[in-house]
Amino acid sequence: MERFATLERLRTGLNKRLFSATELTQSYLQTIAAEDPNINAFITVDETAALAAAAAADRRLADGSATALTGIPLAHKDIFCTQGTLTTCGSHMLHNFVAPYDATVVAKLKAAGIICLGKANMDEFAMGSSNENSAYGPVANPWSKQHVPGGSSGGSAAAVCAGFAPIATGTDTGGSIRQPASFCGLTGLKPTYGRVSRYGMVAFASSLDQGGPIAHSAQDAGLLLSYMSGFDPKDSTSTQRNDAWLENVPNQGLGETQSGLKIGLPIEYLSGLEDTSGVEHVRKALESKGHTFTEVSLPHTDAAIPAYYVIAGAEASTNLSRYDGVRFGHRCKDPTSLEDLYKRSRSEGFGDEVKRRILTGTYALSVGYYDAYYLKAQQIRRLISNDFNEVFKTVDVLLTPTTPGPAFAAGALTQDPVAMYQQDKFTVPASLAGLPGLSVPCGMQQGLPIGAQLIGPAFREDLILTLARDYQLMSDWHLNIPAGAK
Ligand code: GLN
Repeated sequence: MERFATLERLRTGLNKRLFSATELTQSYLQTIAAEDPNINAFITVDETAALAAAAAADRRLADGSATALTGIPLAHKDIFCTQGTLTTCGSHMLHNFVAPYDATVVAKLKAAGIICLGKANMDEFAMGSSNENSAYGPVANPWSKQHVPGGSSGGSAAAVCAGFAPIATGTDTGGSIRQPASFCGLTGLKPTYGRVSRYGMVAFASSLDQGGPIAHSAQDAGLLLSYMSGFDPKDSTSTQRNDAWLENVPNQGLGETQSGLKIGLPIEYLSGLEDTSGVEHVRKALESKGHTFTEVSLPHTDAAIPAYYVIAGAEASTNLSRYDGVRFGHRCKDPTSLEDLYKRSRSEGFGDEVKRRILTGTYALSVGYYDAYYLKAQQIRRLISNDFNEVFKTVDVLLTPTTPGPAFAAGALTQDPVAMYQQDKFTVPASLAGLPGLSVPCGMQQGLPIGAQLIGPAFREDLILTLARDYQLMSDWHLNIPAGAK
């Protein structure tokens, strides 16, 4: 069994009975047991639940009720609530939290017959760009153990990259799917805000959070998206859509690319970048397919990071108020008063980065500062959105680097939060505008993978997925496997 196989190969293997879902699951579980101690991609591995799901999948394969995902193992980011299995969100605050229900994404994938191997490590409450903020220890990049895998969905990306699971779910508030996908040589998609239900996904910044797939290829990411997405009455920001292309993915794949697309290269993303060879490689490949490129400008790009960290912090400070040791979360021992209970439970339960966000977020929302910070940040968000609306009048999609460079060394940015925040400068603008963004592997720098980002207009995941798929038909960066893994 090939642990790096595409979903199509795994499907063929399962359909032809070359292996059963149980054998496939066992083989991934064995790999995890043998190799994850060096990577730390998982917070929880639930062998019993995985094998039970695999047995059920084998029954569906036998009785003809299987879907395109039945019998396929996956890792869920530990931000998605899973009934019966721990959901820690990377925090000590939720060290013993077992959700009483499944997140919509989890329920949908379960109904399709997917097998959850376990819950992937992540930065605490999804705050971070390196997975060094997890209460369950940092995650190593399978390409180089001294480097970070990116964050906050670092465990999900490392798990797929190391061959512990063929696909994983992640969430992206300002880059947390795209940046780790880029650092690990994977394809990661942040869907349009509203495409994937947030019900049962632990909230960080509710106006930005969006779940999405992390996979080896655009084809696999599209397949996972087709099962994750859809209207959900339990999420008031979920959108009702009838996208035939997405519904057809399980049977027909991603379909044809629209021909002769106009692709914009935003100057603000490329000027000042030392190495643009990855983006150039994608550009040449897509030009050879008849797409044309033109430079465009998104003038408010530089303001995105400060605006994002005000808005995301403000939303986090309110969302995280529920972890008070009463309603949710760790409770301190022997409180002497209600205030003491709140204070100590929260001080003990949260890590430093989360505390930093709660403090700055609360400050930005307080009387006297609201207009100067939160309101201003919302105005900048509108300008950034307008920038995208303008360029999408003249181009169909945008091509940018996903990150300023390849994965950085573990520990390199932990003492400098602002430098860490700058890692997201190319992913945050699309998040603020609610647009879909995808990272596709496009080269190697210093022995580490790099990714290019395709950004599309709202609900045009079809454009960016098919372009990425076409590029992957002409390149093999996405097939690269780290030396340590077999
Ligand atoms: N790195 C960004 C942050 O720390 C983005 C995180 C995310 O997308 N969840 O906020």
